[in-house]
This record gives sequence, C-alpha cells and structure tokens, in this order.
Amino acid sequence: MLKGKTAIVTGSTSGIGLGIAQALAAQSCDVALNSFAADAQSDALVKEIAAKHGVRCLFAKADMSKPADIVAMVKDVEKAWGKVDILVNNAGIQHVAPIDEFPDAKWDQIIAINMSSNFHSTKAVLPGMKARKWGRIINIASAHGLVGSPFKSAYVAAKHGVVGFTKVTALETAEFGITANTICPGYVWTPLVAAQIPDQAKTHNMSEQDVIKKVLLKEQPTGKFATTEEIGALAVFLSSDGGASITGTAIPVDGGWTAH
Ligand code: NAD
Repeated sequence: MLKGKTAIVTGSTSGIGLGIAQALAAQSCDVALNSFAADAQSDALVKEIAAKHGVRCLFAKADMSKPADIVAMVKDVEKAWGKVDILVNNAGIQHVAPIDEFPDAKWDQIIAINMSSNFHSTKAVLPGMKARKWGRIINIASAHGLVGSPFKSAYVAAKHGVVGFTKVTALETAEFGITANTICPGYVWTPLVAAQIPDQAKTHNMSEQDVIKKVLLKEQPTGKFATTEEIGALAVFLSSDGGASITGTAIPVDGGWTAH
C-alpha cells in the first residue's frame, strides 16, 4: 500500500513507535527508526525490519530535546532516500508528581521532547513535502491531549499543545496535499507505562496491581490496554490514499476513555 514512500518515526526503538514503524514497513514503506543513541538493539531492529518486510530501514540518531539534532536527522534521511513522505512524531517521556513538587528541569524536558520536537521536525520536513505536494504528518499525543489527570502537569500541557499544533499544521498545509493528524492513545502497555507504575503507586499510596486496575484502566471502559498494533494500523490508514481528506483531527484510540 505504501511502496515507494519513506517515513521517519521518532522514538521508534520500543513501544508505540516501534509498532508504527513495523506496521508501515509491513505496507512496504521504507522506515527510518530513531532514538537518542544507536546500540546493539537498534542495529538488530534495522536488520530485522529490512529483512522481514523487504524495505529499506536505517537508524537516524537524534535527541528529540535538541532542535539541531532533529534538523540533522531530517537532512540525513533526505540525503539517504531523497525525501521524507511520512513523519510520525512519537518520541515522548513521562514524569508523575504533584505540581508543587514537579522538578523544573523535568517540566522543560517534557515540553521539549513531547511538544517542541514536533515543531522542529515538522518545520524541517515541510519544504520537501510542499514541493512534492504530498505528505503525512502524524503526531502521537495521548488521551491526555484531550483531558487532564492529576500529577501529570507537564505531560498534559505538552500533549494538549501537540493537538493544537497539529490543527495549525493541517490548516497551513491542506492545499499542498499534506495531512496532519494527532493520534490520542489511551493506555497502551509499553515500557513508558510500566516505568510509571512504581511512582504512581507511591503517589496514590496503592499497590502496583491496584494502580493498573484502579488508576490506569479505570479510565478505559474496555478494561483493556490498547495495543501498539492498533496504533500502527491507524497510522497506516492515515498514511494511505484513503486518509487523504482526514486532516486536523485528534483521533482517540482509548477504549472509550474520552467518551466520558
Ligand atoms: P516508550 O518509552 O516505549 O518509547 C518511547 C520512545 O521514545 C523510545 O524509543 C525512546 O528511546 C524514545 N525517546 C525518549 N526520549 C527521546 C529523546 N530525547 N530523543 C529521541 N528519542 C527519545 O513509550 P511509548 O509508551 O511507546 O510512548 C510513545 C509515545 O506515545 C509517547 O509520545 C507517549 O507520550 C505516547 N503515549 C503513550 C501511551 C501509553 O500508554 N504507552 C499513551 C498515550 C500516549
């Protein structure tokens, strides 16, 4: 379905980003993986994806908190493959603490990685997309781009910012054959979620099992985590010709959470 297209998926050595990269590659899209450091795992993933799907796959190292790294990443992929057709801004981090105890440095880091990186990467890919009159920008926000939860001030602020930025991107690019959308996952079982459970347990004074049932999945009427495959399937659809008129949206994949 996506043969001849090229994609960058940021933060794609694990979790949702890796799920999206695999789903795009399964549709014959060439995929650039990204994280802040190349390692044995990223080398193995590049080889595995290229061999399994018969696509080109490369690793583009860049720290999403550093604008110069982001611009260099886009330039590197454009140099290697001539273009970037699909940009998936997925890299993100979390920190859980009450506002009055929230570390200033963590706030700045979350805003940089979860929100500002979307601006820098979009700015870098747009000239090429506009010139070719085709592009897909998919920003991975969160249900927390649509509603708030306590103790996640920086994350919720950044994700709401991503939803707003995506709307502006869609409006500025609509006449160039480019779409920009936000996917807003509810809880998906990934390392990011697993890592926050001990902190949540401490903050809520609960066992880790209770945090999963009574805090995380309490919000999702399905009572289930969403899967990385489900998010990947939506990214593929938004990238396809069938997604050409879907732009400026924020699409929840949250088991009904934001229907409340
Ligand atoms: P994850 O921790 O499994 O993956 C995050 C990825 O981002 C990793 O590959 C990591 O190496 C990379 N990354 C982190 N900081 C980076 C940086 N400075 N530069 C480059 N790469 C960096 O997390 P995940 O759960 O797959 O989350 C992916 C995205 O989905 C995030 O934006 C997150 O906010 C969002 N999200 C996740 C959930 C969930 O329940 N897992 C729900 C809603 C939204």
